[in-house]
Amino acid sequence: MSYAYDDTNIFAMILRGDIPNATVTETDHSLAFRDINPQAPVHVLLIPKGAYVTIDDFAANASVEETADFWATFASIIESEGLAPGGFRVISNAGEHGLQEVPHFHLHILGGRSLGPILTG
Ligand code: AMP
Repeated sequence: MSYAYDDTNIFAMILRGDIPNATVTETDHSLAFRDINPQAPVHVLLIPKGAYVTIDDFAANASVEETADFWATFASIIESEGLAPGGFRVISNAGEHGLQEVPHFHLHILGGRSLGPILTG
């Protein structure tokens, strides 16, 4: 499936430098920053710099370089945030049923406490 990317979304604005962010790490192809409304002691958002709408858009259409960079950045965040010993959760909301608010693919990386059941709704 192909997706129409809306470059007025807030993460596109962050990538253009139009609004600030609390950067955790940045690479050639990826950016990680702290969620403005954290749901856990650690709540990092990891995004590709490329214009991908959802996780399946990224999986189907990102280049080998973007994909490798993204997962290497993911691993570095788990390490730098100290999440591996206690464990963590990764969420990617997609589309209407996933209640995705920002239509630029992102992983929520959550940890720092026990996170409870995976679904409540
Ligand atoms: P989702 O529902 O998966 O699209 O989640 C979007 C996330 O982006 C929410 O957790 C918001 O708190 C977060 N968010 C929205 N605007 C910003 C911002 N300017 N900086 C950091 N996080 C943001």
